[in-house]
Amino acid sequence: MTVAGEKVIFEELQPSETAMVIGGGVAGMQAALDIADQNYKVVLVERTPSIGGVMAMLDKTFPTLDCSACILTPRLSEVARHPNIELLTYSEVVGLSGDAGDFRVRVRRKARKVDEEKCSGCGDCVPHCPVQVSNEFDQDLGFRKAIYIGFPQNTPLVYTIDEENCIKCEMCMKSCEREAIDLNQEDEEIEIPVGAIVIATGYELYDVRNYPRLGYGRYKNVMHALEYERIINAAGPTAGNLMRLSDGTIPRSIGFIQCVGARDVSKGVPNCSRICCMYAIKNAVMAKELQHDNVKNVTLYYADLRAFGKGFEEFSEMAKTRFGVKFVRGRVGEVYENPKNDNIIIRVEDTETGKFLEHEHELVVVSPGIQPPKTLKEIANQMRLELDEDGFLTVDHPSITPVDTTVPGIYVCGCAEGPKDIPDSVAAGSAAAMRASITLAKGGGA
Ligand SMILES: Cc1cc2nc3c(=O)[nH]c(=O)nc-3n(C[C@H](O)[C@H](O)[C@H](O)COP(=O)(O)OP(=O)(O)OC[C@H]3O[C@@H](n4cnc5c(N)ncnc54)[C@H](O)[C@@H]3O)c2cc1C
Repeated sequence: MTVAGEKVIFEELQPSETAMVIGGGVAGMQAALDIADQNYKVVLVERTPSIGGVMAMLDKTFPTLDCSACILTPRLSEVARHPNIELLTYSEVVGLSGDAGDFRVRVRRKARKVDEEKCSGCGDCVPHCPVQVSNEFDQDLGFRKAIYIGFPQNTPLVYTIDEENCIKCEMCMKSCEREAIDLNQEDEEIEIPVGAIVIATGYELYDVRNYPRLGYGRYKNVMHALEYERIINAAGPTAGNLMRLSDGTIPRSIGFIQCVGARDVSKGVPNCSRICCMYAIKNAVMAKELQHDNVKNVTLYYADLRAFGKGFEEFSEMAKTRFGVKFVRGRVGEVYENPKNDNIIIRVEDTETGKFLEHEHELVVVSPGIQPPKTLKEIANQMRLELDEDGFLTVDHPSITPVDTTVPGIYVCGCAEGPKDIPDSVAAGSAAAMRASITLAKGGGA
């Protein structure tokens, strides 16, 4: 049972010695590595053309301000090279049967139109492709061709043809010396026997367009936090130059608006997304760090500051004292554009002083809450798993078995269970790996 360019291991797999991890973000990668290091086989299924998840898109990470790519890239290589890990990217689970110790998982491998074994990732095909579309990895702020890798560390380093936009001109095919391009390649379904499953499908950002009063999608100088991450990233669409989108100038004043689509019972997600306060403080600090002489005013508008992790409180204090970031406690009511200069005026009640404020900023960054990926519902149906009121996976017992789902042999980690930062996602990845390994060792229920 081979797909073009794939290692032929499926026939050899025994459910008793194989686990599947679904989702290749930082949580799923950790789970896969920890199971594989115990000498079990792991099939890691990732929906997009590369593993890495959201962490691969980030610039720095709080609270240490480590370069995200610098700490993630060695992990990407470790996963790709691990002899016990079979990477199935551009693939999705479409069905499941069986029980703990003896599941059968059906996986659809989407046609990449590029032979994974023949493609060396040289990129010689790219200049020949005449089709340019926006790059989703850059939050659609940059461009890519119809034959593409999302980012330089794409793992595996194999190109993908985006069928929706490919015009079948065959220019890429003619330019590929290794004859890796196969426009006739079709989707394929395979059945994989595994003894345990870890779900690590992560999250999606809440669609901030649902709050038109906050200006996103209406005003060019309102962006969301992940767009900002790409803008300040040296490998991003502006080569790391902090700028506003209306005119490319460095914003001298930036406002960060918190809790957009989180902690809101009327729409969005009723619960706190846990990570937004910290990522906004990080990005406020980064504005000062990158453009110390130019960015004069950075203000964060928050409802309730959540800085609960190790070093987080100190980090937020440092933002105030060392970097001069201002904090205003109050939910922003609305924003509007100053037609003279495209600046954004924020209206907010400062709930500490009771005063109504109008602040003008050259750039506004909204912090979206996080929600489960749309595909999680499908996976839950296929696997008879329960979802909580926010749509994340329910665990058997949140205190005693925090990574066991309600189905024996199926475990969960990272943001598939609920909002988490990177350290908590990685810790949950290791915990889920341990639970899955116990199931494998016992040949069934753990
Ligand atoms: C703007 C912003 C800044 C942040 N900054 C920081 C920071 O500085 N420090 C920090 O600790 N945290 C930060 N975070 C949080 C961080 O992104 C998460 O903690 C982390 O990404 C969670 O990892 P994960 O593996 O659970 O999920 P994800 O990163 O979402 O990975 C999930 C993976 O699963 C795949 N997937 C989804 N559905 C399927 C499916 N059906 N089949 C197969 N694969 C699927 C996805 O394509 C993805 O690759 C930030 C978040 C945001 C939005």
